[in-house]
Amino acid sequence: MTVYDESNIFAKILRGEIPCNKVYEDNHVLAFHDLYPKAPVHVLVIPKGAYVSLVDFSEQASAEELKAFWAAVAKVAHDLGLTEEGFRTIANTGLNGGQEVPHFHVHLLGGKSGDKRCSSRRIQGVRAAIEPPNAPSTNRRH
Ligand code: AMP
Repeated sequence: MTVYDESNIFAKILRGEIPCNKVYEDNHVLAFHDLYPKAPVHVLVIPKGAYVSLVDFSEQASAEELKAFWAAVAKVAHDLGLTEEGFRTIANTGLNGGQEVPHFHVHLLGGKSGDKRCSSRRIQGVRAAIEPPNAPSTNRRH
């Protein structure tokens, strides 16, 4: 059985304990810019329910949650103008998948350099609010 860790960073975002740069929200889904973008546009889409991984979400979520989640992924991609030029979707799962945050999420990566939708421009204030002053700016791999 998979145990959900209520202290993970996305659970804190969902509870409003730390900020995020929100892109989209509905009853079941939240999407926000990644704090350490690996592409000009790098957005994370997460369900509001407590699901650890892609497998947990796919096996345990209701039909309504599943539909809302994937509809939101498509809507965010459309709204950010990614669908015509193309983009990547990634869902890292578990230790060997390199999943760092144990709350299911899908990465949307796209855009070009110099992009007005650029994630790094949009997360400056959020980083300043939650990181200590001398923290490295991009310390994460993907
Ligand atoms: P993963 O390795 O698939 O679990 O991806 C976790 C992602 O969450 C990474 O791309 C991180 O850059 C991103 N991340 C970590 N903390 C935050 C945060 N507070 N707000 C937005 N994104 C975050």
